[in-house]
Amino acid sequence: MSPSSAPVDAVQTQRLLKLTEIIHFLHSRGWTPATSSNFSCRLPDEGSPGFSISVSGLDKGAFSAENFMDVDFAGQVIHPEQAHLRPSAETLLHALVYQKDTSAQVVLHTHSVNGTVLSKLYEAQKGIGLKDFEVLKGLEGTATHQTEIWLPIFSNAQDMSALSAEIEAGWGNHPPLYGFLLAGHGLYTWGATHAQAKRHVEVFEFLFDCILKLRSHGYPDYSR
Ligand SMILES: [Zn+2]
Repeated sequence: MSPSSAPVDAVQTQRLLKLTEIIHFLHSRGWTPATSSNFSCRLPDEGSPGFSISVSGLDKGAFSAENFMDVDFAGQVIHPEQAHLRPSAETLLHALVYQKDTSAQVVLHTHSVNGTVLSKLYEAQKGIGLKDFEVLKGLEGTATHQTEIWLPIFSNAQDMSALSAEIEAGWGNHPPLYGFLLAGHGLYTWGATHAQAKRHVEVFEFLFDCILKLRSHGYPDYSR
């Protein structure tokens, strides 16, 4: 795959093409502004050493399947031919998700306005409780709107090792975990398939919109 010149793996090439379509969709919704956001896909074989992740700093509207590079779970470049490329600054957070949730195949990280606003409004509570919304059934394994899902919020940081350790420490507190927000920053979510991961972003974004509207109407569950 030029320009990276990494060894071509036909299966992963297809998976990255599919992921690129999703990136364009997320960009079209305004959820990946100003070259922000990053995306990854686990390498396909059992026992593979890592994942393909978007290179840093590209406009996601113009992103192509050639703009990924392969890294291991320590965030290190796998192929010497790609040593000149710079993986996303948040590579370690993707690595954490793949290691904590072994079913995760795709990790999507977006920067929407609604997610960013809510992450600030609920930062002191360290999360948002989501219940009694039909769209929650879009989260894999959720069969009823009555399920309560906790979306944790972690304070933002530029030290990815420290941030990763903090997220890892809080990982099992409110299972099942479908994603998390970084305060003033954005959403991480993932899935066992491309479609599932995309659906999870859509569920969360739909709910962010609902919660902001409910707050503006003084709805008790989201009044503070
Ligand atoms: Zn980010």
